[in-house]
Amino acid sequence: MKTHVKALVVGGGAVGASIAYHLARAGWSDVMLLERDELTSGSTWHAAGLLPLFNMGYATSHIHDYSVKFYKTLEEETGLNAGFAVVGNLRMAQTQDRMDEYRLYASTAETVGIPYEWLTPAQIKERWPLVRTEDLKGALFHPTDGYINPADVTMAMAKGARQRGVLIERKWQVDGYEWTGSEWKVTCTKMGEKGGNLVPTDEQIVITAEHVVTATGNHAQRTARMLGIKSPAIPVEHQFIVTEPDPALVDYRKTHGEHPVLRDADAKWYVREERGGWILGPYERNAPARFEYGVPDSFRADLFPLDLERIEEEYMSMIHRIPSSEEVGLKDDFNGPICYTPDGNPLVGPAPGLRNMWLAEGFSFGITAAGGTGYYLAQMMVEGEAEIDMASLDPKRYGAWMTTEYAARKNEEAYEHVFILHHPDEEREACRPLRTAPAYDRQKALGAQFGCVNGWERPNYYAPEGFDDHGARSFRRGGWWQYAVEEAKAIREGVGLVDATAFTKHVVKGPGATQFLDWFTCNKLPKVGRINLTYALTAAGTTRTEYTIVRLAEDEYYLVSAGAWTAYDADFLKKAAGDKAPEFGYIEIQDVTSQWGVFAIAGPKSRDVLNEIVKDADPATVLSNKRFPWLSMRNIELGMCPVRAIRVAYTGELGWELHHPIEMQNYLWDQLMAAGEKHGLKPVGARAQNWLRQEKSYRAFGTELGRDATPLEADLPRFVDLSKEFHGKAEMEKTGIRAKCCTLLIDGPEDADPWGREALYDGDTKVGRLTSGGYSVAFGKSIGMGYVTPELAVPGTKLKVRMFNELWDAEVTEDSPYDPRNETIRKDG
Ligand SMILES: Cc1cc2nc3c(=O)[nH]c(=O)nc-3n(C[C@H](O)[C@H](O)[C@H](O)COP(=O)(O)OP(=O)(O)OC[C@H]3O[C@@H](n4cnc5c(N)ncnc54)[C@H](O)[C@@H]3O)c2cc1C
Repeated sequence: MKTHVKALVVGGGAVGASIAYHLARAGWSDVMLLERDELTSGSTWHAAGLLPLFNMGYATSHIHDYSVKFYKTLEEETGLNAGFAVVGNLRMAQTQDRMDEYRLYASTAETVGIPYEWLTPAQIKERWPLVRTEDLKGALFHPTDGYINPADVTMAMAKGARQRGVLIERKWQVDGYEWTGSEWKVTCTKMGEKGGNLVPTDEQIVITAEHVVTATGNHAQRTARMLGIKSPAIPVEHQFIVTEPDPALVDYRKTHGEHPVLRDADAKWYVREERGGWILGPYERNAPARFEYGVPDSFRADLFPLDLERIEEEYMSMIHRIPSSEEVGLKDDFNGPICYTPDGNPLVGPAPGLRNMWLAEGFSFGITAAGGTGYYLAQMMVEGEAEIDMASLDPKRYGAWMTTEYAARKNEEAYEHVFILHHPDEEREACRPLRTAPAYDRQKALGAQFGCVNGWERPNYYAPEGFDDHGARSFRRGGWWQYAVEEAKAIREGVGLVDATAFTKHVVKGPGATQFLDWFTCNKLPKVGRINLTYALTAAGTTRTEYTIVRLAEDEYYLVSAGAWTAYDADFLKKAAGDKAPEFGYIEIQDVTSQWGVFAIAGPKSRDVLNEIVKDADPATVLSNKRFPWLSMRNIELGMCPVRAIRVAYTGELGWELHHPIEMQNYLWDQLMAAGEKHGLKPVGARAQNWLRQEKSYRAFGTELGRDATPLEADLPRFVDLSKEFHGKAEMEKTGIRAKCCTLLIDGPEDADPWGREALYDGDTKVGRLTSGGYSVAFGKSIGMGYVTPELAVPGTKLKVRMFNELWDAEVTEDSPYDPRNETIRKDG
């Protein structure tokens, strides 16, 4: 057996097979796949094989779309028929809210290029008379997906991989990983059979590999332990049942084609045909997490006992929807482990803290996602970056705060939520509150309705006592909208206080720090006491992270980046610094996120509020433009609280970010609230802030800024210093401008604003997509930001936005339509 390879893929399920295939197809000739048992013996063998294109995420939609197209080509390449039944997929809606969800989804589908059709209840009845339709509002139909045989498609990918030179070895279990500094030493044990069990033999080998990919399905916790990392990938029970043939269906099929996969989302199930009967797959309540601490040795290709009681409600609703199924008995049942993560997305990408170690774990729709995951992960490994932004799948989106208990409970919630309405303003409840800044209780007492970002509780908006956030959610303007309007107005006209404690904060210091950051980021470094907005780029020249850099001393910097991405940013920063320290000198990186609280005070009266409590030899001038100019940092004292104050405001008003010792947060909050009373200081949540920043065309990380666009495509040339060399510069320049970011004012429906997922049109031609959306209090209409073809990204261009299946007028504005000359931000006083 070969003992040195370029890439070793661990795990022979659908995902591992696809990765091995795509690495070979992308040009790596020396790839090996190891499987501890037989190929497909993990979750793959008992999957129902559905390939739903429907997904609310942009990256995941691309992944699923690729898979569906790729699987259709496999037979020609390998001669193996994977049984792809392109029967289509019918998503039924019992409520108008559900139709709104489909309409929002349809926008995402359009931006990706996934075909769909709308059907009325009458059209459904006409085509599929066995389906009861009188209580339906309509349906979304995907003609191009369907279902496949999971084992066969895995075998076809494995055959395709072998044809391209991949070695596949079965009955070898990986039992240890060791990084030598240049490659991985992987200890593997030959597995044998004993009494029907799979047991380790005495035979061991060590394989060295430049790169390792783990795709170990339900064994993700064992894999994480071996790697010394934390992983939220923990399986949940998932069942489906198969009925005996339904005579009405058998009869119908004599003259008609197969039913599409039927999804009654409001009843939380899917149904498809199976040999004259039906398969029912529910996403029921109370499905328990399993194998939190690893898969027992005795569990092989096994199943759990059926829990019919748990799915009774869904079973009854299938009978309601397909009345003929009432008379048919059960033929078979499956209850298997299905891997989940807290947000339902898999973990795909570089492992935290490790070199050349790639994770592909936590797949709950792994048959659907395998093809695209292999394709895009191979791009990341072979070319350095994928063509789509894979951040929403990055394994580092959960930080060191994440525990097994958290992951297990959140995964159960993610499972139950598969068919629950995905309101764009939804906030899921499990495991909360968990990460709370000290002012949490004070904010809650003022009516804060919290959202969750990277585990932190952060006010979304403030509402009167007794307000029901859950009932206020909507695909249109939810019940919270008016409160966000009042908060946004408070900042534009008076003064508001935003809690931004969740921000990611790093200190970078040491003899190599300046040279390193100059190479690592694309803008000029600020002088001591000044700040700059800048970007770290990927090797492909796209945006990896946005930083506000504060220079504290010649060789000491304070970096502030997006709150949701602490571990993701830390990992990139530390790995890059580790690479460059031999060249630039010692660089120390400290993640100080939890040590500093942040309040952002903003609005024309913000200086007046601070003046009430600032302590200084000359308090009248300490906050003046002369002593504290825009884009600078000063250490000030607010009452007894030492504050690192930064004169920036994400809302585009006169304002300061007040970074303070976390243990003094309540003291500072009380000081600010008391001082602010006579100036009308209003606590403001993240929703209003998100609207206000769009009026200033401030790009946000994760929406406008990501690994699929360069900072020049984000139209930020003023933050890119082309006179210096920096990481990713050549690739950025080579990429050119494929699409350009712009801001749009939108004359949308009266009761709704865009969410930032909508397609943009020039006449009938799709020309781009929104990445952010909301309401502008300054202009009294909807606002959005997005990407369009470069020639259209000029002020005055008239476009259309598709919302709720209609086209609405939109006009590209100049950058920063509100206060384009930054006069209010710079206001002296
Ligand atoms: C009842 C049920 C129905 C489902 N229906 C669908 C569906 O309709 N559509 C869909 O898309 N998904 C479905 N799924 C989910 C789907 O089965 C999984 O997402 C998918 O199979 C995951 O594939 P994988 O390759 O990641 O993991 P697995 O198939 O579990 O493969 C992992 C492999 O890694 C091997 N391995 C682990 N550790 C090691 C090691 N240390 N050394 C060597 N090998 C190792 C294991 O033996 C295993 O073969 C369903 C799941 C269930 C339970």
